[in-house]
Amino acid sequence: MGDLKVLISEEEVDKRVREIAEEISEEYKNKNLTFICILKGSIFFTVELAKRIPNNINFEFIRVSSYHGENSTGIIEMKVDLQGDIKDHDVIVIEDIVDTGRTLSYLKQYLQSKGPKSLKICALLDKKERRLCEMEADYVGFDIPDKFVVGYGLDVDEKYRNLPYIGYFENV
Ligand code: 5GP
Repeated sequence: MGDLKVLISEEEVDKRVREIAEEISEEYKNKNLTFICILKGSIFFTVELAKRIPNNINFEFIRVSSYHGENSTGIIEMKVDLQGDIKDHDVIVIEDIVDTGRTLSYLKQYLQSKGPKSLKICALLDKKERRLCEMEADYVGFDIPDKFVVGYGLDVDEKYRNLPYIGYFENV
C-alpha cells in the first residue's frame, strides 16, 4: 500500500475540531442537541467535538453500508437504525467524510422524514471533486484532495481507525 503519510496532523485536527465546537456552541447557545454519529468512522470526531460543546447532547447512532453496483448507483443499506425519537429535536449529523455524497443525501432524506426541528450536517472531511450528487455539509473541517485517507476514525479493512491524525497511503 506504500508509505503512510500525514495529510492533516493531530494538532491541526484538534485545532479545527475546537473551532467547529465553538461555532456550534455559538449557533445553538443553550439549546439541547441531538448528535447522530454515523458508525463507525465518525466515532472519534463525534466524541472529540461533543467534549468541547457545553450544551446537553443526546447521542444517536446509525450505521449504513453502501454497495456500488455496475451501473454505479450506490445502494445504501441501513445496518443500525436510530433507537430514539428525533421528532422536534435540533439534530446534527456527524460524518467522517463526504465523498460522492450519496450516503448523506440518503440519510438527510431519511432523517427529515422523522420530523426534526432542525437538521444540519457536520463533516470532518470533504472531497468535493468526487461528488456525484448535490450535498453541502453545514460544517466542514477540511476540504481535502481526492486521496484515500485513514485515521481519526477512518479505516482500511478495520485498520488505522485509531491513528490520532489523518493519513494517506502514497500508492492508494
Ligand atoms: P459517500 O456516500 O459520500 O460516497 O461515502 C461516504 C463514506 O465512504 C464515508 O462515510 C466513508 O465510510 C467512505 N469513504 C469515502 N472516502 C473515504 C476515504 O478516503 N477513506 C476512508 N477510509 N473511507 C472513505
